[in-house]
Amino acid sequence: MTAHKKPQDHLRQGRHDRLIEERVHDPYKPRKKLPEPSVCTACGVVWQDGRWTWGQAPQGAHETLCPACQRIRDRVPAAFVALQGAFLDKHKDEILHLIRNAEEAEKAEHPMNRIMGLETHEDGRIEITTTDSHLARVLGEKLHAAYKGEVDFEYTKGEDMLRVYWRRES
Ligand SMILES: [Zn+2]
Repeated sequence: MTAHKKPQDHLRQGRHDRLIEERVHDPYKPRKKLPEPSVCTACGVVWQDGRWTWGQAPQGAHETLCPACQRIRDRVPAAFVALQGAFLDKHKDEILHLIRNAEEAEKAEHPMNRIMGLETHEDGRIEITTTDSHLARVLGEKLHAAYKGEVDFEYTKGEDMLRVYWRRES
């Protein structure tokens, strides 16, 4: 007779996706349709043809605060990315460069996908918050593709909430 191995006995390496049961209401999902065209008074992004785009707001556009700017104002991120490990300390500039480039590319095409905050802690850990979950996933994937290490994606079931953990020790 052999005891069943528990699933969490697996080695912590590579990529892991984990669903977490958690109920968090997302107040940033629009409840009613925004009038078109609308312009965000904070960042200038324009709502037209059912999507947010960068560009000149048409005259007489309805004024609003876009969901990304609402989250920034309220300090309510949609996703977290945490980076740690000795490799990070040695390659910090390069890694921050990759993160900024990834954000620029993402934000240009998807104006609601932005980095809200980037904080470096005394122990070298870096914590990033984003206005949407897709950018957080992109950051985790790009870090893993460029530097290997180990990456965890923790999704909150049924909600737009994601936590990404990346680490590499050597
Ligand atoms: Zn805005």
